[in-house]
Amino acid sequence: MTSDRNERHKQAMQRRKALVDEKVSQANDERGILIVLTGNGKGKSSSGFGSIVRCLGHGYKAGIVQFIKGTWDCGERNFIEQRCPEAPYHVMGSGFTWETQDRERDIAAAEQAWQQAEILLKDKSLHLVLLDELTYVLKYGWIDQQRIFDAIQNRPSEMSVIVTGRAASKALREIADTVTEMTDEKHAFRAGVKARKGVDW
Ligand code: ATP
Ligand code: MG
Repeated sequence: MTSDRNERHKQAMQRRKALVDEKVSQANDERGILIVLTGNGKGKSSSGFGSIVRCLGHGYKAGIVQFIKGTWDCGERNFIEQRCPEAPYHVMGSGFTWETQDRERDIAAAEQAWQQAEILLKDKSLHLVLLDELTYVLKYGWIDQQRIFDAIQNRPSEMSVIVTGRAASKALREIADTVTEMTDEKHAFRAGVKARKGVDW
């Protein structure tokens, strides 16, 4: 019986391999892509930073602009600034909009951060650029959408870009190559667990 089962498994895996090989052979385009990580579930920024580590691990250069987070302490920034000083890392100068409660200040801070992003998006030496929490800049209309889309779409062809943040617009999803919607099925915070240092930030 075990040998029957093993034989069926082998045949199923051979069929699977043929399908996978066929799909792999059809994916021949070599170009950078735009990835949008959105939705209410946890994992958007951590996935973005995971890709940054992946990129740096291959010896490529990567750049990061963190919108919204302000001076918030966060492990990923500490690590990259200390251990990967060659990776350009910019942080928007003001924090969460519900904390600043000052639209003019938010717009000025977003403008400064976006100018840094525009510089990174022209830099041919970068393999990957992470625009963490950029969706809020679009949602609040702090920077003109067309200006943002132009910079992203006119980037060097080998560069990939990751945009994270909740509530990505339909327009942003349309210009993306890969869109992942993180679903909030369950979150420890709602059961009263405080955000964990080294896990949530
Ligand atoms: P992470 O940075 O953990 O990958 P995220 O980028 O998907 O989270 P954000 O919307 O940027 O999520 O949330 C910022 C902070 O809120 C992070 O500390 C994150 O762990 C936490 N968080 C994310 N999703 C939820 C949720 N559904 N409920 C409560 N807290 C959340
Ligand atoms: Mg995030």
